[in-house]
Amino acid sequence: MIEAAMIESAVIQSAVPRKRPGLTIAALCCVLAWIAGAATAAWGAPRKAPAAAHPAPPPAELHILPVQGNIYMLTGAGGNITVQTGDDGVLMVDTGLAPMSDKVLAAVHSLSGKPIRYIINTHVHPDHVGGNEAIAKAGVTIAGGNVVGDIGASASNQATIMAFQSVLERMSTPASGTAAAPEGALPTDTYTTPGRKIFFDNEGVELIHIPNAHTDGDSLVFFRRSDVISTGDIFVTDGYPIVDLDRGGGIQGVIAGLNRIVELAIPADLQEGGTLIIPGHGRLCDVADVVFYQEMVIIIRDRIQDMIKKGMTLEQVKAAKPTQDYDPRYGSSTGFWTTDKFVTAVYQSLRQQH
Ligand SMILES: [Zn+2]
Repeated sequence: MIEAAMIESAVIQSAVPRKRPGLTIAALCCVLAWIAGAATAAWGAPRKAPAAAHPAPPPAELHILPVQGNIYMLTGAGGNITVQTGDDGVLMVDTGLAPMSDKVLAAVHSLSGKPIRYIINTHVHPDHVGGNEAIAKAGVTIAGGNVVGDIGASASNQATIMAFQSVLERMSTPASGTAAAPEGALPTDTYTTPGRKIFFDNEGVELIHIPNAHTDGDSLVFFRRSDVISTGDIFVTDGYPIVDLDRGGGIQGVIAGLNRIVELAIPADLQEGGTLIIPGHGRLCDVADVVFYQEMVIIIRDRIQDMIKKGMTLEQVKAAKPTQDYDPRYGSSTGFWTTDKFVTAVYQSLRQQH
């Protein structure tokens, strides 16, 4: 599916959100391939299809969506990619799957002739960091010129990769059965504080760490002048939130992250528009979309929390169907992130707190 991908670099679409069913299946397959360990040595190599039977997804297409201000959204390369352009160069949030790197680079170059200076990784998953090596190599760090001697020539030959510290740790020391990322894919500028700020392309850009949410290394990225937030996988539109317990995720952190997005965003008239939100997967959103999703996650968390308080086992919780009214919109009985797995992860996540 990846090999057959095509770029539609000239696609100009309105900012009206719309659903992309093809992306949904493709994205889930990619995450499935990673978590199931089906692609053990696949940093940079094509991944094996997941073991679970899945209808073949349509070819992934790369789309460029102008968002607002300096910001574009690239879809179809795995996780959504955010591209900021301006006089200083290009800043990207996430880099998609490794096999999509050439097409991502072509799309970025169609938006700006300036060098790629910064890559920010929202978290460690390969559908968000897979293109790091190839794309960073094609870029140039902002600290070129006279300071090259101080930081080493090699450091100036690639874009700076920023991420929360645990992203670097998990990429360089992966779980058993998975390959370590190549040196060139690793973050070169990490942070351990609650946030980090840079000024680039004439706007303030805030990295905001949300502890123990989708993983333990999640960053939201807020473009203050363009008024756009890239959320990584704390917020997705195509299913229940994925809680990666093995990599330090937790449902309470996901809710904290959704709360933070809603706090940062300011809607325009009638709760529409205003701050625009680029989710980790799925369509472009505004704050009303995030509020609906936030309420859904909180309601399901509260139901399962109550069941735990009553002493119900995981099997009893599943039998009580705490997600039933949301399943037509977000549920799945096939693929990697089934409703069953979501309920299990919420249950286990809440139990860990007791
Ligand atoms: Zn993810």
